[in-house]
Amino acid sequence: MRPIAGGLCAICGERLFSSYALSAPESEPRCGLCRRIEPAFARAAAYGSYEGGLRELIHLLKYGSVRPAANVLGRMLAESIAELAPDFPTRSIAVIPVPLYRAKLRQREFNHAELIARTAIKLTAPGRLHLCAGALERKRETVSQTGLTRHQRRENVRGAFGVAQAEAVKGREVLVVDDVYTTGATVSECARVLRRAGATKVWVATVARTLKASEHHVEIQFSGDTAVDEGLVALEIPLARAAGS
Ligand SMILES: [Zn+2]
Repeated sequence: MRPIAGGLCAICGERLFSSYALSAPESEPRCGLCRRIEPAFARAAAYGSYEGGLRELIHLLKYGSVRPAANVLGRMLAESIAELAPDFPTRSIAVIPVPLYRAKLRQREFNHAELIARTAIKLTAPGRLHLCAGALERKRETVSQTGLTRHQRRENVRGAFGVAQAEAVKGREVLVVDDVYTTGATVSECARVLRRAGATKVWVATVARTLKASEHHVEIQFSGDTAVDEGLVALEIPLARAAGS
């Protein structure tokens, strides 16, 4: 459960590899995706890689309803917020947890993203972060993102969110908070909607992020884990091994 270290994309936090440095000498390193399309958010930070103990802890909260897990995860979220904080405005920033659809919220009884946001806010400079949990709403149920390609994920969440409290967002910088950043489809859609409603800048902080494991990799989308709705599990294996099998 170690924090992410090493060369990362300055925008989305994806892992970068050594050959990258040779191909892109600019001062602010960006991954291929962020070079192709400017994301709707300014920057996304994550505390750790979505695997092992951290993944289990997130599952405990989300699917096991073990609420105390939110305290540990909230502390990690506070660290990823601290990475972004030097660039935050001096006036307060609206913290918006990615919302659940009504039916899912009723079934789960709490929004895990909101729980971890509450802990993180308590641990971060008081008065600077204001929770605006109702500012964004999920307008429709989205099917599980597990097993979907990057493109399908984007289609799946398109139009799924709406701004319910425009006054909380208009003319302000906003921090979107979630447990896991997988392809960024969900937070990008949230950022797009928030910007359209007048947010001047959108930041993203998550507890975990899926990371490329090696320079030469293929993604195998593992759909056996139906409990994971936001976490595409990218099993990444070296190309040589994939080609040889
Ligand atoms: Zn990137």
